Amino acid sequence: MLHIISLGAGVQSSTVALMAAHGEITPMPECAIFADTHAEPQHIYDYLDYLDELLPFPIIKVSGGDMRQMIVDSCGDNKGNARLATAPFFVKTEKAKEGRVRRQCTREFKVTPIERKLRELVGLKKGERAPRGEILAQQWIGISMDEITRMKDARIKWAKHRWPLIELKMTRLHCLKWMKEHGYKQPAKSACTFCPYRSDKDWFKMKNEDPVSFADAVAIDNHIRAGASGMKEGNELYIHRSLKPLEEVDLQHLSNTAQFDMFEEECDGMCGV
Ligand code: SF4
Repeated sequence: MLHIISLGAGVQSSTVALMAAHGEITPMPECAIFADTHAEPQHIYDYLDYLDELLPFPIIKVSGGDMRQMIVDSCGDNKGNARLATAPFFVKTEKAKEGRVRRQCTREFKVTPIERKLRELVGLKKGERAPRGEILAQQWIGISMDEITRMKDARIKWAKHRWPLIELKMTRLHCLKWMKEHGYKQPAKSACTFCPYRSDKDWFKMKNEDPVSFADAVAIDNHIRAGASGMKEGNELYIHRSLKPLEEVDLQHLSNTAQFDMFEEECDGMCGV
């Protein structure tokens, strides 16, 4: 059976990869697979290069396309020129003040490209079925104890998911501690620059510490306002749940007053970890 790590290059999946390199999670995986949306902050690509130097197994990059370009090509003045696989943007409609559009990006840009590579690695040709009941691959997912509700079984019959951090009862904080104790650099959260799955604290931090990514998020936020073709005329899309342009949101005030942030969600198992 093939063992592979789904690598998002965030704290949890990077910890899984490094612990495997140390032999603290066994067996040694054949590789880690990173699904590139071409829309991550630069620090994630830098951290991938850092991991690549450290790991005894290869990091394979796969891609379902350039997600940022798809948004540019399908919204704004380009509306109608391309299809939009939507991110979980907030939507202001005439009837409801707030809603969310259906998330399609995780499947298209994360899950499917990884599954396609898995098929190739286990030697299944296009359309070929695995022998009945046989498990050909185990996909390690970096979900920690504090995100246990995100655990989901694989949707393909010949592969199964494994959650090493759950087996070890490790939280995100345990991962950061493990990295520190072993002298590794700690990654920031991995997610597309414009991903709405961010708390106000995350946005505020990005604005101050990574202005290039924040400017990119603002540009995409302004570009998506009128949505893509197929969406109802008059509906407006926003990245921030306040349904205000991101550049106008008082993130300092919101991040100081937030008791807790119920919007700190992430993509299922593939993004953010
Ligand atoms: S990080 Fe966010 S925007 Fe990017 S693929 Fe995942 S859910 Fe979609």
